[in-house]
Amino acid sequence: MNSVTVKAYAKINLGLDVIRKRPDGYHDVRMIMQTIGLHDTITIKKTNFQSVTIRSNLYYLPTDRRNLVYKAVELFCINYPIRNGLNIYISKRIPVAAGLAGGSADAAATLIGLNKLFQTDLSLEELMHLGVRLGADVPFCLLMGTALSEGIGEILSPLAPMPECSILLVKPDVSVSTKHVYENLSLDEEIWHPNITAMLDALKKNNIYSLAPLMDNILESITIKEHPIIGEIKEKMKDMEALTALMSGSGPTVFGIFDNQHKAEKAYRFFKSSGYGKQIVLTKPYYPETISKSIRET
Ligand code: ATP
Repeated sequence: MNSVTVKAYAKINLGLDVIRKRPDGYHDVRMIMQTIGLHDTITIKKTNFQSVTIRSNLYYLPTDRRNLVYKAVELFCINYPIRNGLNIYISKRIPVAAGLAGGSADAAATLIGLNKLFQTDLSLEELMHLGVRLGADVPFCLLMGTALSEGIGEILSPLAPMPECSILLVKPDVSVSTKHVYENLSLDEEIWHPNITAMLDALKKNNIYSLAPLMDNILESITIKEHPIIGEIKEKMKDMEALTALMSGSGPTVFGIFDNQHKAEKAYRFFKSSGYGKQIVLTKPYYPETISKSIRET
């Protein structure tokens, strides 16, 4: 096998709560994560040179050590030395710095691809153990599906899949720093917390109408104050008959949940012709059977 192509799926947070700030500066979270159909594609080819070359369709994406794909290769090679060089192409479709874990998804797909290409036979658990060193979202991007994420995001419990629906993503043209959002979140105040436990019950019932009204993200209390456009997009989505709309991760992407594809398409067309943002994607939840389904070998 000389080359492998792996899909790197984005995630949204159906629920995001922050429990406390830890003495080490990190935050303990309680999040419900969901993989969605929107994905990048990573192609890894063996070469006879000793170097690693990364290219991508996005001119502004770093292709050196700053890229999480590069970091994933380095981490893999420290543990499982390889003799070849690598040519890697990232076909990027997941909006960058959007709260959709695009970089973590690419890192996870790279670990899956290298494991296949060099026949290292690491289990999913072993890959997750390796992946957490690249970022707290990487283990979930390896696991995929629907999961409860606790600790700093690395403690994962798989959940019943979220009910079928259409998901509309709108990324406004604003930059949000994850670090800044967490630093400005004051948990001492009387702050509204999402009811993650009720969401877990709703997921068990597999009913989108009881799940959607419970979806919530505590980080919106910071980002909407600073970027009112996020609040405006949420309201517009609801006007367009979304069951609910909220921000993913630390933003700025807003996603709307629709129980009907026609309503979702109508909202998609509206946002495409509006000035709310250039990156608008209509997608669905992604339900993985096994990770091998998303790998193509040549
Ligand atoms: P998080 O919520 O973890 O901050 P995000 O989904 O908001 O992630 P990403 O798309 O992962 O954001 O990008 C965050 C930063 O990571 C960007 O500044 C980008 O330059 C850098 N980065 C490194 N590698 C990648 C990659 N393969 N794809 C996207 N961004 C990458």
